[in-house]
Amino acid sequence: MLANKTEFGDQVIAWYHQHGRKHLPWQQNKTLYTTWLSEVMLQQTQVTTVIPYFERFTTRFPTLEALAKAEEDEVLQLWTGLGYYARARNLLKAAKTMISEHKGFPENFDQVLALPGIGRSTAGAILSLTLKQAYPILDGNVKRVLCRYFAIQTWSGEKKTQDKLWQLSEQVTPAQDIEYFNQAMMDLGAGICSRSKPKCSLCPLVNSCQAYKKELTKQLPISKPKKDKPVKQTYMLALNYKQSVLLAKRPSSGIWGGLYTLPESDRKLNEAEIEQLFSVKVSKVIEKPEFRHTFTHFHLDVTPIEIEVKQVISSIRDTSEVWFQLKSDAEFGMSVPTQKILNLISEQL
Ligand code: SF4
Repeated sequence: MLANKTEFGDQVIAWYHQHGRKHLPWQQNKTLYTTWLSEVMLQQTQVTTVIPYFERFTTRFPTLEALAKAEEDEVLQLWTGLGYYARARNLLKAAKTMISEHKGFPENFDQVLALPGIGRSTAGAILSLTLKQAYPILDGNVKRVLCRYFAIQTWSGEKKTQDKLWQLSEQVTPAQDIEYFNQAMMDLGAGICSRSKPKCSLCPLVNSCQAYKKELTKQLPISKPKKDKPVKQTYMLALNYKQSVLLAKRPSSGIWGGLYTLPESDRKLNEAEIEQLFSVKVSKVIEKPEFRHTFTHFHLDVTPIEIEVKQVISSIRDTSEVWFQLKSDAEFGMSVPTQKILNLISEQL
């Protein structure tokens, strides 16, 4: 039989006090700012990956006020490698909005929810974990626990299932000790009710979990219906002039928004085309082995083309471009494939 709300909460909270995570960097001297930062970084990203990013970020921007004054390039540079860069751009936008409109981090749910990049679950997590306000959450880990506990047999990406899960999350969330309960649900999902091979014998909910009872833990949660991801092709051009490489800043919306990337072409260009397009004289063109970069919605097959430049006729064609010196430290964010290609070229130097 399913546990009632109090039993569910009590079991989960008791488990948290014994086994939950309490020593993560963002759990020390918690503020709305640090909880927000960690929650945004943890979206689609593992704790172990987030820790060094969180530490570097809070060292550079210890307060919301400091972040609000930042340049987007620096924020993106600190974010390089974490992926999903819209998170970083929204973080900066939200920090500026909070300072200009609220003079600090708002404590009201609707005001937090209205900030860029903050959905219902993140708003609930920030306010419950930091201020003990009793809001339910529904991140990926909590969804998995609820889908299994209540044996939900439809995909959680469907609107109807999503609504049902919110209703269930509200139903099991206690009014007291919310900060422990929500943290416990996230920890349970991450460490016990894991995607593959959940450790049900260690789970505080095992006696009333429906998936466990019906032997459905392998089948649940229902995965997203599979569609083959499309594959796109691109050539990334690394124009190398005296160990500096031409990069251009992307517009702030769209793929790699605000990051610096190598120029691209959808077909192989010949030497004459490269010379005309970039106003340079070329001494050698070297095609490197293709690699695949995968986004949520498609694969990108990247062919790096190293172009040794012997003369630059017109140094910068537009203001978004820079000649970046290889082996120097970048003061801006770069896309992962660009960084990978620059590393490849630097290794040869
Ligand atoms: S008993 Fe197993 S399947 Fe059920 S919630 Fe716990 S870990 Fe997940």
